[in-house]
Amino acid sequence: MTDFNEMTTEDFRRHGYALVDWLADYLERVGEMNVLPQVEPGELRDMLADRAPEHPEDFEAISADLDRIVLPGLTNWASPGWFAFFPAAVSGPSILGDLAAAGLGQQGMLWATSPICTELETVVVDWVVDLLGLPSWWKTTDRGGGVIQQSASDAVHTALVVAREEATRRGAQPGRWVAYVSSQAHSSVEKGAKVAGFSHIRLIEVDDEYAMRIEALQDAVQADQDAGLVPAFVCSAVGTTATTAVDPVRAIGEIARPAGMWHHVDAAFAGNAMFCPEFRHHQDGLELADSYTVNPYKWTPVTFDGSLFYVADRRPLIQTLSVLPEYLRNQASESGQVIDYRDWHVALGRRFRSLKLWFVLRYYGAEGIRARLRANVEWAQQLAERVDEHPLLERVAPVPFSLVCLRHKDGNQATEALAQAINASGHSYVTPSRIDNLAFIRVSIAQMNTRRKHVERLWKLIEQAANPTDQST
Ligand code: PLP
Repeated sequence: MTDFNEMTTEDFRRHGYALVDWLADYLERVGEMNVLPQVEPGELRDMLADRAPEHPEDFEAISADLDRIVLPGLTNWASPGWFAFFPAAVSGPSILGDLAAAGLGQQGMLWATSPICTELETVVVDWVVDLLGLPSWWKTTDRGGGVIQQSASDAVHTALVVAREEATRRGAQPGRWVAYVSSQAHSSVEKGAKVAGFSHIRLIEVDDEYAMRIEALQDAVQADQDAGLVPAFVCSAVGTTATTAVDPVRAIGEIARPAGMWHHVDAAFAGNAMFCPEFRHHQDGLELADSYTVNPYKWTPVTFDGSLFYVADRRPLIQTLSVLPEYLRNQASESGQVIDYRDWHVALGRRFRSLKLWFVLRYYGAEGIRARLRANVEWAQQLAERVDEHPLLERVAPVPFSLVCLRHKDGNQATEALAQAINASGHSYVTPSRIDNLAFIRVSIAQMNTRRKHVERLWKLIEQAANPTDQST
């Protein structure tokens, strides 16, 4: 032990191996554990010390608390029975990529503070443009570019700030900017609009399939223009959170362009499906978009966190966010030959997130990722067919990807009871949801560890719980 109780490299090696073993055991056993923790609020807090330790502790004692305190408090997102929300992926290559990122201690705020953090990110996000069939000019080698932000919320916030500045550059007075988004889009758009200082946010109504009604958007834009307001931002959702509804991207783009609005596409979950060309028709019209978000962790083997944010033209983004204090000046930046990603989002400091993406893309290859996505969609379609054929169940929305939204025909109470019964099983976990006053259950089939047998097990449970008096199923 040194004066400062530093961990020797020898100890680091030993504890590191032990921790990787512990994690491997966890991942091996996670399918046998309850998806939800069996704890009451405050129970875990009571197990933790009231004060931070004054004296050093042994690493063995610290890591033993992973079993004693951390494990019982986990919601097991990695469970193959995870059908809730959208998932947060867990995969070996991605965990190791993140471990390497932590160990290398890079802070990539500028090219100069970590050339590899910047250049690897540029290359990997450009790879993804091709992998998802996005417009070729979104690459950094052309006039656009991508950056890894922490979350889709950060990305849409950024897009809104750029939209606001673009409107202002064209002469819009503060307080006159308007943002439009469907009533079914993720709440992060509304939140981002608030953070970006929009006082006018229009939640546009949706059609029977929960996609934005284009006439309603047109009318709202017209009404605002007539009232002297400035339409500045519109968001298309490719895969809403509640039902994965898809807004008409092209039609929205055709309204946005002449009105001078910034057009952002939120494909946080469903954008991952675009690894497979057969899903790309859902985002037809992307060439009319100004920015785009997809979160790999929601449906590829990349661990949480990270959101890819693309812009069709990087100049307005950099012009909006670039502030150069003296202490960040450096020769490389001044040469104009490098990217400084600090100018591409709100935060200055940035993690080396591209490493896990690079590991995953290389380890699985695009074909491995496509195979998994297609399997999830196939299982979801089969589940949807079973729901359609079942006398007591019904679907509430189309299934364009791998989210099935179903309800009990007996109404909201029966639907909520069904969700409760599924979640009480311990092995499967779904999200009960509501649109207006319609209760339904979201079954999201996208966890990396889920296999067909887990969907079968869930279906048996649904059948049983839908008709508790029938013992034959
Ligand atoms: N957009 C959609 C469609 C989502 O489903 C979500 C979260 O589930 C978000 C945005 C927000 O994502 P994040 O947690 O990365 O901010």
